[in-house]
Amino acid sequence: MDGQKIAKEVYGLAHSKEPVAPLVKEALDVIDQVLDHYGQEHISLSFNGGKDCTVLLHLYAAALAHRVGASQGLKPVPAIYIPVPSPFPELEVFITETSRLYGLDLYTCAPSSDASNRLPVESVTPGIPGTPSGLTNGNGHIKDPLSQPVGMSRGGEGMRRALAIYKERLPHIQAILIGTRRSDPHGATLSHRNMTDPGWPVFERINPIINWSYSDIWAFLKALDIPYCNLYDQGFTSLGSTYNTYPNPALLIPVSGTPSGNSSLPSFTIIAADPSTICFTESSHVSAVPLAMNGHTNHADSSNQPRYKPAYELVDGSLERAGRSSATTAFASHC
Ligand code: ATP
Repeated sequence: MDGQKIAKEVYGLAHSKEPVAPLVKEALDVIDQVLDHYGQEHISLSFNGGKDCTVLLHLYAAALAHRVGASQGLKPVPAIYIPVPSPFPELEVFITETSRLYGLDLYTCAPSSDASNRLPVESVTPGIPGTPSGLTNGNGHIKDPLSQPVGMSRGGEGMRRALAIYKERLPHIQAILIGTRRSDPHGATLSHRNMTDPGWPVFERINPIINWSYSDIWAFLKALDIPYCNLYDQGFTSLGSTYNTYPNPALLIPVSGTPSGNSSLPSFTIIAADPSTICFTESSHVSAVPLAMNGHTNHADSSNQPRYKPAYELVDGSLERAGRSSATTAFASHC
């Protein structure tokens, strides 16, 4: 990775006339303040491979390279990743590659395989918007959502425990950069800098892109040609577990081949989903689409398979999480 090139491009964008420029500058200023306050060795970056923390990582790399100048290389960047139950394999590959590319010193707080001591990482909330009581199996029978093997607890307990472990292992880390935006669950009341809530391991949460919108994220990624997880090119607009994350129905390309409008949800509605099947309904037409083994759609170019536009074509950012059930991000709400 050429840090100086990244810095030149990012700072160039910040001082350009592009609409996203003021937000880039704002984020760089926040990162600079925090670097002045704590020093790089006391700051970690929360990275789960999603688009928002991919933007944040690139901004952070630019800010670090800007400080050290061309003659010095970048020091490893402390980072934390807390895997959700059943993560997307593509996402994990992206995390590994990105970690190498940007020189992350990534601490993966993985769930224990010992069930009695399993880390209840951020829960995967069963239940699909538009369904009255939760998930159905491939035969259309309602499953008890609580019987889903998706998380050991609800809310942010898993995240809290993961951060407690991180604090114990790396006590010198005092601040965590987070890719939360105001439109995220629980993001509305956050500012650029917030301490963790009482009862949580003590860190300062740094939210440099809190004021960015969905379209700002894509404008930045596209303007600088930044690598992002390939699931976003398959219609996913926000990534969680394979148990609760699907391509965004607003990006579904109707079988007729005529792309639906971006500004509102098409008439397709998810009526049921589980890790092996997802069903859509449009008027009287109902189709059950088998999912790949890892829990997401097979995007082979077949007339039977649903096809989706890429995430950056979603115009209405309020539909960003239309492909997810109601999982929330504990990083945003507490830590
Ligand atoms: P997307 O919404 O497309 O999945 P994202 O994962 O970057 O993108 P959020 O899910 O809204 O965004 O999460 C906000 C931020 O919280 C992330 O950018 C990341 O910094 C942090 N975060 C969330 N979950 C995790 C996790 N499991 N491990 C590490 N960091 C996380």
